[in-house]
Amino acid sequence: MNVPFLDLGAAYRELKTEIDSAIQRVLDSGWYILGPEVEAFEAEWAAYCEADHAVGLANGLDALILALRALDIGSGDEVIVPSNTYIATWLAVTAVGARPVPVEPDPATHNIDPARIADAITPATRALLPVHLYGQPADLDPLLALARQHGLPVIEDAAQAHGARYKGRRIGALGDVVCWSFYPGKNLGALGDGGAVTTNCPDLADRIRVLRNYGSRVKYKNEVLGENSRLDPIQAAVLRVKLPHLDAWTDRRRAIAGAYAEGLRDTELILPHVPEWADPVWHLYVVRSPDRDGLQQRLTAAGVGTLIHYPIPPHMQAAYARLGLAPEALPLARDLAGEVLSLPMGPQLLLADAVRVAANV
Ligand SMILES: *Cc1c(COP(=O)(O)O)cnc(C)c1O
Repeated sequence: MNVPFLDLGAAYRELKTEIDSAIQRVLDSGWYILGPEVEAFEAEWAAYCEADHAVGLANGLDALILALRALDIGSGDEVIVPSNTYIATWLAVTAVGARPVPVEPDPATHNIDPARIADAITPATRALLPVHLYGQPADLDPLLALARQHGLPVIEDAAQAHGARYKGRRIGALGDVVCWSFYPGKNLGALGDGGAVTTNCPDLADRIRVLRNYGSRVKYKNEVLGENSRLDPIQAAVLRVKLPHLDAWTDRRRAIAGAYAEGLRDTELILPHVPEWADPVWHLYVVRSPDRDGLQQRLTAAGVGTLIHYPIPPHMQAAYARLGLAPEALPLARDLAGEVLSLPMGPQLLLADAVRVAANV
């Protein structure tokens, strides 16, 4: 067997003609920063996300950073984050000078446990930052209720959740501002870096639009201390080709997840739990096993590519030694890191191969 974890080249080849001509269109236009391609993608992405506004940015980490900056969150402030997430979620908080305050996951979903958030709120808390991890929506209603009760904004890290629905509603503007990545391996991926925010709040959209472009609305007039974080028009053109295919790709991911659920039902692995209110988009299919390393070695030997998301939780990274959090301070995040394994997943993975992977497991 030779089943890679993810085949980005296959994703490109599926739409090669359309993608090549979209890139050529931008090259021929003579317009290489912001402009009509970026504006068109922003309108299309906002509509897809059922949000009023989208702002195209350079990457997902910047989306989180600019969302925090637009909300005036900075030094001395605390932001509630999941203990079990990709480190970018935490890095955004520290990048603006604020402190990440981690909350442990619901062990069934691996997503932030809303029941544990209240205890983490202090007078310094300025925002809640849930992540829709693996493409599974976080349980937003209790989280939004808590945020309202404390007068806190909700920033969603949706870098893995393009197209996911919570109680039938698209992830895109359920919280105050939603942050997206179009890193090539994401469910909607560019051919390089890209990101965006979506929101229903015109003021936040406007602030982020100004922040991404040197703090400037009118050339050479700088209102605030901005950055350079603009979505590249070539990437916007690629994303415009791919977006109409996203739902069909999500359906293929769902079929693969179904094949795994069926084929792995009688194993000792802990399989992903999907709450009845969730329509996940299966960015990752993550199983859990106390013998994770052995399982990964056997699958590698059988020609099956797997990855670990994530092998070291943020609080155990050298970069966060300064927070002084012992591994056992967040035992659920620590234990998940030792036991999770992501099986091959992607719209170009053949269903028959997924069935064979399950049989191999
Ligand atoms: C990919 C990712 C990011 C960062 O996106 P980039 O575009 O790589 O900067 C942030 N949060 C999560 C959960 C991610 O998976």
